[in-house]
Amino acid sequence: MIPFISRADLSEQNIWIKHLSAAMPNEMIVLFADLTPEQKLQCEIAIVANPDPDHLLELPSLKWVHSVWAGVERMINELSSPPFSIVRLVDSNLAQTMSEAVLAWTLYLHRDMPTYAKQQSKKSWIQQPMVRAQDRRIGVLGLGELGAVSAQRLVANGFSVAGWSRNPKQVAGVECFYGEEGLIPLLRQSDILVCLLPLTIETKGLLNDQNLSCLPIGASLINFARGLIIDDEALLTKLEQGALSHAVLDVFMQEPLPINHSFWQHDSITVLPHISAPTHPVSASEIVAENIKQYRLTGNIPPAVDPVRGY
Ligand code: NAP
Repeated sequence: MIPFISRADLSEQNIWIKHLSAAMPNEMIVLFADLTPEQKLQCEIAIVANPDPDHLLELPSLKWVHSVWAGVERMINELSSPPFSIVRLVDSNLAQTMSEAVLAWTLYLHRDMPTYAKQQSKKSWIQQPMVRAQDRRIGVLGLGELGAVSAQRLVANGFSVAGWSRNPKQVAGVECFYGEEGLIPLLRQSDILVCLLPLTIETKGLLNDQNLSCLPIGASLINFARGLIIDDEALLTKLEQGALSHAVLDVFMQEPLPINHSFWQHDSITVLPHISAPTHPVSASEIVAENIKQYRLTGNIPPAVDPVRGY
C-alpha cells in the first residue's frame, strides 16, 4: 500500500493515482484520505506532490518519500529533520522540457522581441543592431540536472555559454565557474543570465542589488528556478534605472502572483505562470515505478536530497 499525498485538488490527485497505478500494476496506490489507521502504521513509502507535512508525520514507518516534482524546496523547508529520506524527480524528459523553455526565452531576449513589441505599440520603425549568437554571452546559474542540459542546448544553438555550480564541473562547450569566488566573474560576462539554482539558505536572495550590479549594463534575466532567489525590489530598481533591460520570470515569491502585484503591469517584465518545465505524469510515473521496483528488489533507497545542503 503506497499513499499519494498532495495538497492538489482531488481531481488532480485522482489523475496521479491513475497514472501511478498504470505504471505500477503490482502496487496498490491510494489517496492518503483512503488509508485506514492500520495501513498508516505500515506505510514505508509515500509518493508526494507538495504534501501536507502533518500527513507525512502520521506515517511512523515511513522510510522514504518520492516526489513527482523536481523541486522539493517547500517540503524541505516545512519539514525540519524529517525521519525519512526525500527523493525528488530526476526525469530526462523534464530536463529537455526545461532546456526548450530556456532556449525559447533566450531567443526572445537575444532577438530583441520585448523591444520590437514596445516599438510596434508606438508604430516605431527602428532596426536594432544585430548581435550574432556567438557574440551573445549567456550565464547559467546551476549546472545540475536542468542547468547542464539547458547550457548544452544553448551551446548547440551557437551561443557563448558559461555556467556556475557549487562544485567544479565540466560541461562540454561551457565555460564552468564554481564556488563563491566564481559568481562575480560569471555575472560580469552574462548578457543574459538564466537562473536554475535550487532555493537554499545560500541561494535565497542571491540575486540582490550587489550581485545584479555585476551584470553588464543592459543585461537581461531569466528566472526559472524559485522566486525567492531574486530580490524583487533590487530587480525593479535595476530595470527602472535601465541597468537591466528585461526579466522573464516564471517563479515568484508568492504564487499565483497576486493580481495587484506591480510585475503584471511592468513593460520590462514577462510574467509566466510557473510553466517552464511542468512534470509530465506519464514519464514521472514510470520513473517513480522503476525506483520503487528497485527498492522492493534491493532495499536500496534512490539518491535522496541532502537536508543539510538543501538540495
Ligand atoms: P540540481 O540537479 O540539484 O542542480 C542544482 C545545481 O545548482 C547544481 O549544479 C548545484 O551545484 C548548483 N548549486 C546549488 N547551490 C549552489 C550554490 N550555493 N552555489 C553555486 N551553485 C549551487 O537541480 P535541478 O534538477 O537542476 O533543478 C534546479 C531547480 O529548478 C529546482 O531546485 C527547482 O527550484 C527549479 N525547477 C523549476 C521548474 C519550473 O517549472 N519553473 C521545474 C523544475 C525545477 P553542484 O552541481 O556543485 O551541486
